[in-house]
Amino acid sequence: GKGIAVFTSGGDSQGMNAAVRAVVRMGLYIGARVFFIKEGYQGMVDGGDNIVEASWSSVSGIIHKGGTVIGSARCKDFRDREGRMKAARNLIKRGITNLVVIGGDGSLTGANLFKQDWPALLALLIKRDQITEEERQKYNFINIVGMVGSIDNDFCGTDMTIGTDSALHRIIEAVDAISSTAYSHQRCFILEVMGRHCGYLSLSAGIACEADYMFIPEFPPDHNWDEHLCEKLESERSMGQRLNIIIVAEGAIDRDGEAITAELVKKVIVDQLGFDTRITVLGHVQRGGSPSAFDRLLGCRMGAEAVLALMEATPETEPCVISLDGNQAVRVPLMGCVLKTQAVAQAMKDRSWDQAVQMRGRS
Ligand code: ADP
Repeated sequence: GKGIAVFTSGGDSQGMNAAVRAVVRMGLYIGARVFFIKEGYQGMVDGGDNIVEASWSSVSGIIHKGGTVIGSARCKDFRDREGRMKAARNLIKRGITNLVVIGGDGSLTGANLFKQDWPALLALLIKRDQITEEERQKYNFINIVGMVGSIDNDFCGTDMTIGTDSALHRIIEAVDAISSTAYSHQRCFILEVMGRHCGYLSLSAGIACEADYMFIPEFPPDHNWDEHLCEKLESERSMGQRLNIIIVAEGAIDRDGEAITAELVKKVIVDQLGFDTRITVLGHVQRGGSPSAFDRLLGCRMGAEAVLALMEATPETEPCVISLDGNQAVRVPLMGCVLKTQAVAQAMKDRSWDQAVQMRGRS
């Protein structure tokens, strides 16, 4: 049967284990041999014990765990042809010609490059006597399918990335916990939320937690935001509200491109209003804990679809990403999505915020 390998790469996120589990079980179900590659591309380059065959029971009891049980890593070696050549050899020796990569846009870019580079890698391996001519002919192409694991929901081409919903749960739990203590005093809480250049987590959490104010990268305020913020907080207090919640996305800026940090917001409030103000930086708490039901199901559905996509692939099939389109797991071109995601990141850097928001749509 076919040889399929699954690995997680780059930053981890909740729900990756569900995806790994689904790939393994769907792969075995259709009669393929399935392998784990531990520690992302590093495990692929290093080979040895990092590449192990999976069994049905080897993925039991992982669906509820956060992070990724097969490990993830960043890998410098894979960026060079020499490293990719070692990786190719390790796959060929185990009969693997199908890859499922779960990661962010960097990991998917690497996978695409690997596919493009494959013929050249085989030629090199032949030249160095590392594989036989028979092996070259047998393994002359590699299929690649990606899934996006990221808490930021910053990938173009899918409605949700694996991990976003769980991160949102963590944030909401934290705000609820803070609210219950803060309510005893008159206090103002500033929460710094992850998301890099994407305000999805901040915006969604802000709505779900009745935040009084939010700063997100896509909608930078004018430089006199401090006046507006203080007016708003003051009017809330005068109406008897004892607790204020302010959400600051980690990439928040003003219209001049100046960073708006939790510290800066605190200084404004303390200096101008004298409110008792506290900062909470949620940090890696957002990536931790068990995956939500949504992320477990998302991982299951995407993982199963990934294996089906590999089954139907021909040498001409371009790598695809499994994406969520409304309620359906569908296939979209991998490189198209990666390029669009990078273009959005660039638009954010260029301060073309409206354009970035428009581009970020699904298709
Ligand atoms: P993410 O996948 O979360 O965006 P990174 O950008 O760090 O995280 O990428 C993860 C790994 O993918 C890198 O450590 C590297 O091994 C591989 N990778 C990323 N970009 C490339 C590239 N252009 N060429 C080859 N490999 C890459």
